[in-house]
Amino acid sequence: MIELQGINRRFQVGNETVHALQHVTIRVDTGGYLAVMGPSGSGKSTLLNIIGLLDRPDQGIYLLDEQNTTELNDKQQAAVRRHKIGFVFQFFHLVPRLTAAENVELPLILAGFDADDRKQRVQQALSSLGISDRARHRPDQLSGGQRQRVAIARATIMQPEVILADEPTGNLDRTSGREVIDILEHLNEQGMSLLMVTHDPELGRRAARRIEMLDGRIQSDTVRKHESI
Ligand code: ADP
Ligand code: MG
Repeated sequence: MIELQGINRRFQVGNETVHALQHVTIRVDTGGYLAVMGPSGSGKSTLLNIIGLLDRPDQGIYLLDEQNTTELNDKQQAAVRRHKIGFVFQFFHLVPRLTAAENVELPLILAGFDADDRKQRVQQALSSLGISDRARHRPDQLSGGQRQRVAIARATIMQPEVILADEPTGNLDRTSGREVIDILEHLNEQGMSLLMVTHDPELGRRAARRIEMLDGRIQSDTVRKHESI
């Protein structure tokens, strides 16, 4: 479970203080599906970065599975991040010199898996995402949709509890975007929490729960009604 209590994050730009997050308090149960919406600059990425332990709040407490992450040092946070969190970005963030398989393998190397085990897990991950035939391709030899599949394979190879996706379809055509959403929703159905930043109202409506950010605050928090067909 993710629990943020009174989170503030400020950035100093010249003489000006930008309040990227102000008094953000929210709880997301394990296995939840949350869409994060709101205009550009409203704090969506900052929120995901803090939840993903890529950034620290200036004030407030962040509990992940009842552990107070705010008290952990950088190394301890990195260990939690490696095991519990998978991050998917708009621009994929793959390592350009490495093949698809090597990109997916990276977290396993960091976690100390042996070579045979790594190979097997990478093959399985690529195959479950339908990109086995692209294993030896470098990112620049892949389409956007394929790159995002590689990024999802890398983000989930450690079976994290939480997937954080920051505009994962923002750089994809409609069809590839839809395929990426199907993959993420499927992972959510298998039990991973999914927190996704999106500008697409249609995607926002698919999520079990939706928050709207404005000026660093949570403006609204809506649980999706059950649809009757
Ligand atoms: P969003 O993802 O909703 O577009 P962000 O979380 O990226 O918004 O940014 C929220 C606010 O914080 C914006 O005003 C942005 O300019 C500012 N901000 C974010 N990161 C930094 C940074 N590293 N340095 C200075 N200002 C930042
Ligand atoms: Mg953003």
